[in-house]
Amino acid sequence: MKQLLTMLALFPLVAAGLFAQGGDPVIQDLRVDVIYLSSDYLQGRETGTEGERLAAQYIATRFEELGLEPRGDKATFFQEFSAVVKSNPHAAAGETRTARNVVGFIDNKAPQTVVIGAHYDHLGHGISGSLYTGEPAIHNGADDNASGVAGLFRIAKALKEKKLKKNNYLFIAFSGEELGLFGSKYFVEHPTLEWGKINYMLNMDMIGRLDSVLVVSGTGTSPAWEEALLSIPRDGFTVKKTQSGMGPSDHASFYLNDRPVLHFFTGQHGDYHKPSDDSELVNYAGMEKVTRYMLQLIAAVDRKGRLEFTKTKDEQEGRQAAQFKVSLGVMPDYVYQGEGLRIDGVTDGRPAQVAGLQKGDILIQMGELPIKDIYDYMEGLAKFEKGQTTKVILLRGGERVEKEVTF
Ligand SMILES: [Zn+2]
Repeated sequence: MKQLLTMLALFPLVAAGLFAQGGDPVIQDLRVDVIYLSSDYLQGRETGTEGERLAAQYIATRFEELGLEPRGDKATFFQEFSAVVKSNPHAAAGETRTARNVVGFIDNKAPQTVVIGAHYDHLGHGISGSLYTGEPAIHNGADDNASGVAGLFRIAKALKEKKLKKNNYLFIAFSGEELGLFGSKYFVEHPTLEWGKINYMLNMDMIGRLDSVLVVSGTGTSPAWEEALLSIPRDGFTVKKTQSGMGPSDHASFYLNDRPVLHFFTGQHGDYHKPSDDSELVNYAGMEKVTRYMLQLIAAVDRKGRLEFTKTKDEQEGRQAAQFKVSLGVMPDYVYQGEGLRIDGVTDGRPAQVAGLQKGDILIQMGELPIKDIYDYMEGLAKFEKGQTTKVILLRGGERVEKEVTF
């Protein structure tokens, strides 16, 4: 705690504002953690930079304060690895940097261990992956993913106090995620405890914008999930489940190594990967609800021992789209429940924007292929080559609109 206070002393104004607010102590802790991690002081937490190191130090300090054991390299909280940073995704060579995962352990002397993870790196001043087209600016990444890291502390604190002793718990704050899941890939290849003992993995990536829907992905990765999820009462939100264990975040690394996974996500928004993803836009009470929901899930499967792993039909999602020869340059709305693909944002200068597609449009047809959901859209993309032109049909304010898109 002393170290933590010293760190917060670097932010007298932030700290004073925080401690003056009072209220629910759980929500208060979530707020303090998100505000620190997404402050300008950490310069956007770019992998392998000083801002990343400061964030890692804060996380280690919080783990220690919560009574977690160090479980990184050589009895420290840190696990070092190399990450390749490219100036743009098409650059042939990149710069190799040293990055670090932060790993803490609750040892209940149980035969198996649950991994709870969240990445803490972000886009610095706007490295590859940024959707911002202005002058370089600090990308604070409050929702992406200071929110998930704050969630780790909340869950760790609760699990230290609860009587759920049938599993050990390994908490990992991953780095290198934004550059391509470097930290989680490194961990699954170099686990700091016996890999065979790892039961399942829960990932939090962007849990700070709860509105009315919580997206839970990976429900097909174990037969245990459906039943467990049904047993948990909802607190003012609905749960949108998707089966696939693949996806654009760290749970995919565990799924690909045959572990049941779930990813918790409160949905896409216009500040995603932009400097405006700031702490004042975070729903802290919503984060409390999401993490409480996860704790209820952990309790629901506590006595089930090792969860059975099942492979899912691996739909292409999110960052996986990079494997396609073409892309539209749109941000899909992952929480949209209706038919079609609702567009949450378009990137300047990319095919969708050039063709006149707009935020809020619902894509219902590409070429001859009707688009009922994001998976049809991914399937559709795979059919096109660069330079090809196709007709797309959209719903805009209820009207059908036709556009020509050139990839
Ligand atoms: Zn993220």
